[in-house]
Amino acid sequence: MHYYSTRNKNEPFSFAQAALGGLAPDGGLFIPETIPPYRETVKHCLGSMSFLETACETIGPYTKDEIPAQVLEEICAGAFSFNAPLVPAGRGSMASPLGDTQASSLEDSRASGAPFPLMLELFHGPTAAFKDFGARFMARTFSWLRRGEDQPLHILVATSGDTGGAVADGFFGVEGISVTVLYPKGRVSELQEKQIAGLGGTISALAVEGSFDDCQALVKGAFGDAALREKLALSSANSINISRLIPQAVYYAAAAGKVMEGRWDPDGEATPVSAKVGTQKKAPVTAPDRHFKGGPVSFCVPSGNFGNLTAGLYARAMGAPIAGFIAATNINKTVPDYLENGEYKTRLSQATISNAMDVGAPSNFERMAAHWTYGEMQRMIRGISVTDDETRKTISDVYQECGYYLDPHGAVGWTALQKLTASAGITGPTAVLATAHPAKFAETVEALTGPVPIPLSIQKALGRKAQSKTIPADLAALRDVLLNG
Ligand SMILES: *Cc1c(COP(=O)(O)O)cnc(C)c1O
Repeated sequence: MHYYSTRNKNEPFSFAQAALGGLAPDGGLFIPETIPPYRETVKHCLGSMSFLETACETIGPYTKDEIPAQVLEEICAGAFSFNAPLVPAGRGSMASPLGDTQASSLEDSRASGAPFPLMLELFHGPTAAFKDFGARFMARTFSWLRRGEDQPLHILVATSGDTGGAVADGFFGVEGISVTVLYPKGRVSELQEKQIAGLGGTISALAVEGSFDDCQALVKGAFGDAALREKLALSSANSINISRLIPQAVYYAAAAGKVMEGRWDPDGEATPVSAKVGTQKKAPVTAPDRHFKGGPVSFCVPSGNFGNLTAGLYARAMGAPIAGFIAATNINKTVPDYLENGEYKTRLSQATISNAMDVGAPSNFERMAAHWTYGEMQRMIRGISVTDDETRKTISDVYQECGYYLDPHGAVGWTALQKLTASAGITGPTAVLATAHPAKFAETVEALTGPVPIPLSIQKALGRKAQSKTIPADLAALRDVLLNG
């Protein structure tokens, strides 16, 4: 498989070059020459394959010339050491398909035929957000691709909150690789800061006086800086990195396979349900609504930089049974606006309670646009934006009615789905990607629900002390820190 820059279809790169390079030399993003279809036998068996099998079948075609199957299997087994359960959020009062409890906004939407969403819980990994999938795969892949090299590799990563923690954790202790994480000072939660800046060792943290877009611009600037590139072997680890994006296609395929067969999973260890529901659900669960007839699922994806959604598009293009996508954003609605009127206008990011999605210039859009036309995107994706007030109301309503704790990002997804199903027919099964555990955003969530159960991964991180250096949003300052410490 060859890889090309989104800006130049003439110069091929290997997977190793694309992964380790991060950004293409011309500033474009790497894309595979084709999106390889699943083998027919695989396509129809996704629902009964193990996560590891699905991972190898999904990622294998992208790496097969360079990573032996056996090695890939080891990388995947190490990276995906936790699962991605697909659970019905509503039990207890919500479990009855006809909604025999008091009317409420959620019940109303169900009574009007809105499908009741499943939650694809992507927060069972060590930093309690979906970015663990990509970051852990990338760290193990880099380590293998760099075997036998003497020059240390330096990873630069800009984060709006969750990427930094996932990358720091994924690379912590990986030999021959050091990491510098740039995050917007004061715009990440205390826990996120501890996850980013609490490990120490080969992981350095820079608090940038500016926004996430500033952090991202600094990283791009560093890659374009000849003086830096001469002295350091630089690589990126943002969602622009193709080796982070491809593994994210795995959970879409695995979940779509299950929904196709009308199945879901039992709760995982970190599933955030209130104790009340925890006891009730020991009784047999009534299948909520029409999901369980099975069929192609529509995924609702809380989106910021659009790496996650792009990975979903890859899974669909490979042949996973996915009807379509909802691109759910907070008020940073560059892509929903584009889908509506065909004009792509980036803007400054605005701070919201779903801060991992505060992106005004989504970097993966360039990749989406290189693969698909506007018309194709319009047919596959519905865009919708959600305000903080709506998000808070959803967190509160869903907790009241289901005993399920949504984090602000998942709540943007839930709200978007509700708004869309109310206005236009999405008739098949639906799943919202729960991109982070609510305990990661306890300050916001607990004000609406009361105490949230804290998973073990987060308890560990909270015990650490954040140590970072503050810099202005200025390339010279970054250059100085990187070269002189
Ligand atoms: C990063 C992140 C998102 C946005 O994902 P993109 O791939 O950037 O669109 C959504 N939710 C959470 C919790 C995140 O950490």
